[in-house]
Amino acid sequence: MRISIKLKFSLFLAVLLILALGVLSYFVLQGVEKNQQTQTEVYLAQHVKTVNLRVKQTYYTGTRLEPQTFMKQRGRGLATELAGFTGLGVTLYDAQGLQVGSSIQDTSIQDHPAVDRQSGVNAALAYALQNKIAYEAVGDTLLYLAPLQGPEEQMGVVQLQYSLKSSQSFLRTLQNLFLTTGIAVLLLSFIIGYLYFNRAAAAIGRLKKAAEDIRRAEYIQAPPFRRKDELGELAEGIYFMSMEIEQSIAAKDEEQRKLQLAIHKLQALEQQQKQYIGNISHEFKTPLTSIKAYVDLLNMYDDDPKLLLEAKASIAKETQRLYEMVEKVLRVSALEKYDFESQAELLEVAEGLRDVCSRMSGKAERFGITISCDAKPAHIWIDKESFMHIFINLLDNAIKYNVPQGTIHVYSELRDNRVRITIRDSGIGIPNEARERIFEPFYTVNRDRSRQSGGTGLGLSLVRNLVEKQNGSITLLESEGEGSVFELSFPATS
Ligand code: ADP
Repeated sequence: MRISIKLKFSLFLAVLLILALGVLSYFVLQGVEKNQQTQTEVYLAQHVKTVNLRVKQTYYTGTRLEPQTFMKQRGRGLATELAGFTGLGVTLYDAQGLQVGSSIQDTSIQDHPAVDRQSGVNAALAYALQNKIAYEAVGDTLLYLAPLQGPEEQMGVVQLQYSLKSSQSFLRTLQNLFLTTGIAVLLLSFIIGYLYFNRAAAAIGRLKKAAEDIRRAEYIQAPPFRRKDELGELAEGIYFMSMEIEQSIAAKDEEQRKLQLAIHKLQALEQQQKQYIGNISHEFKTPLTSIKAYVDLLNMYDDDPKLLLEAKASIAKETQRLYEMVEKVLRVSALEKYDFESQAELLEVAEGLRDVCSRMSGKAERFGITISCDAKPAHIWIDKESFMHIFINLLDNAIKYNVPQGTIHVYSELRDNRVRITIRDSGIGIPNEARERIFEPFYTVNRDRSRQSGGTGLGLSLVRNLVEKQNGSITLLESEGEGSVFELSFPATS
């Protein structure tokens, strides 16, 4: 059977109080009884003194008789007289223990069996006859037997009959009082205890609920209650424990999420790499097939001057393409592995851009394209070689995919603590659906056009890699009308 803690505590308190009260009442009652007994003894001893005096007085004032005869003759009268004095029942015995007079008919002790009563009295009488004081309680009556002193020796015994009714009733009243007080205290302490422990039990209940919540992973956002005692400290402890568990579980979840993400990335990377290798093989095969075809033709028709010229031009072009491709592939793979190779330094953007523009202006002119550069002074922290590579690639594309007499505009500004560089060309533009894909390795919008201009589809992928390695970003802006606009952004260094 499950007994609630508040019931246990309340019962414990009630039992404790009743025990204390029981022990207290026992000792108080004992004390009172002892005190009453002493008082009765003193009271009866005084009466015995008076009795002795009166007996002596009567003995000496009357005719001088033998004590035995005196007791026999005057016993009855004396007993009645002494009863008048003392207000108690008086019985006189002579030195032989024979009753010589009594003021009472023995009614008060009649309720008790005669044999018991008589044997008790006789024993007490025998004792008193040895010049000693004896008691005998019979029912609610106390028989007090004391020696009567004669002229030379003990001449008899006086028995005073004292009613214990009033003291017994006083003791009973006291007992009842303790009993009723005890029951009242028991009930009251139980109720008070119950109410008091109710609060503590409610607090314990709240702690239990908090623990269950935590078990269900419903973490508590504040201590279940506030108290300035051990329960309050426990509530706070549970709250902190809940917070710690929540945090460590959140950290574990976060770790798991990151791990999952890393696994997905690795899988994607693996996929990408497979595709990359496939693309490389394919891209390498195309120029090599073309070269091999021309070599075979030359073996067959080595005296054909037209074929020779055509083969020379084509082989040169394909070789150049192969060379560029090998260079870019090597750069891409180096970029993935050797982070330490990039050495960042402070670069003045306007200067850098002007340098790139002037390097590319020769190639642009050959295609009748003009490059204009409008760069505002700003500094960025970047690896200079990567910077050059990024913008040479972008300008190269802007030339390759431009139209005759086209334009390229390079612009830079400092905004929101970032240096933003745009390269706008008046070329053939990039369709919207290819906006993200152009950054994938080997992706080309138009393969023939790319090939014609010696493109490999690796340029922009390399550019994005380099830009991101330098904490920057590159996006192809939506261009209204013709041409393409690339925007690059790098954190500015003041
Ligand atoms: P490629 O070596 O073929 O130029 P890139 O990675 O540099 O490879 O470019 C990917 C593709 O994006 C190109 O094949 C081309 O179709 C398109 N592209 C890149 N830049 C431009 C541009 N400025 N104008 C038009 N198309 C462009």
